[in-house]
Amino acid sequence: MSLLIKDESPEKLIGEDGKRLDGRDLNELRPIMMEVGVIPNADGSAYIEWGGNKVYAAVYGPREVHPRHDARPDRGILRTFYRMTTFSVSERKRPAPGRREKEISMIIKMAIEPVLFLELYPDSVVEVFIEIISADGGTRCACIAVAILALADAGIPMKGLITAVAAGKVDGKLIIDCSGDEDKSGEADLPCAISWYNNQIALLQFDGIMNLEEFDKSIDQIIEALEKIRKLQEEALKKRYIDVRDHLKNYKPKVVTTNNIEEKIDSNNQKNQNGGDQTE
Ligand code: ADP
Repeated sequence: MSLLIKDESPEKLIGEDGKRLDGRDLNELRPIMMEVGVIPNADGSAYIEWGGNKVYAAVYGPREVHPRHDARPDRGILRTFYRMTTFSVSERKRPAPGRREKEISMIIKMAIEPVLFLELYPDSVVEVFIEIISADGGTRCACIAVAILALADAGIPMKGLITAVAAGKVDGKLIIDCSGDEDKSGEADLPCAISWYNNQIALLQFDGIMNLEEFDKSIDQIIEALEKIRKLQEEALKKRYIDVRDHLKNYKPKVVTTNNIEEKIDSNNQKNQNGGDQTE
C-alpha cells in the first residue's frame, strides 16, 4: 500500500448528462449554511459550511493596538488572518502561514475595510481570525461572507454586507461556485465580491482564460448567485438577533418608577439621619 496520498484530478468535470461531478447544474451553488455567534470567547463570530468548506471567523476588538506604532490617531485599523488548519486539505498542510495565506488575508482585508466605519475607533484595532477547518475551493469567498457576519455580530458599525462567490470555466462551459477539483483542473477561476451598500465590486480576481463575452456572462451569473447568498447571510444575522431577544426575555427588568426612587431616597435619608444621631 502506498503511503503517499495521490492528488489526482479527474479528466472530465462535466458528465454526459451536462451535470458537474457533484451532480450540480452549471449555474447551481453548493449547499450553504451559516450561523452567527458561535464562539462565546470572541466579541463576534460566525461559521459557514459551503459545500466542502468549513470556516470559523472570530472577531476581537475594537481594542488597543500592539505594537503601538501601528495605531492611527484618526481611525481604527483592521487586521485579518486567513489560516488553513493542517487537516483542512487531503495532504497535511504545513502549519506556518505561507504566501498564499498572507495574500488571501490581505485581499479579505481590502474587500471588507471600506464598508466599516473604522473612523469611529481611533488608536484601536479590530482583528478577524479566520480558520479553515476544511477546504474545497472558493475558501476566500466563504471567508469574506463569514468574516462580515462575525464583524456584524461584534457590533462593528458597517455600511452594509459583502458577499462573494467564484465563477469559472470547465470543459469549455461557464460554471458558478467552483469546487476544489473544478478550481484546480478548470480553465478559469473568477472570484468576485460585491459590497451591497453601493453595489460596487469589492474583490475581483482572475486566473485562466475567458473571452470578453464569457467574462460578461460570468459576471451576470455571479450577481445572480450573490443575491441568493446575501439572503442566507441576512437570515443568519436575523436568527442571531431573534435568539438574543428570546434569551433576554428570561431576564425581566425591574421597573423602578419615579415614586419608588423618591421613596427610596427619603428612606435612605431617614436611615442616615438616625445613624448619624446615634454616633453623636
Ligand atoms: P480558494 O480556496 O479561494 O479557491 P485557491 O484557488 O488558492 O483559493 O485554492 C483552491 C483550493 O485548493 C482550496 O480551496 C483548497 O481546497 C486547495 N488548496 C489550497 N491550498 C492547498 C494546500 N496547501 N494543499 C492542498 N490543497 C490546497
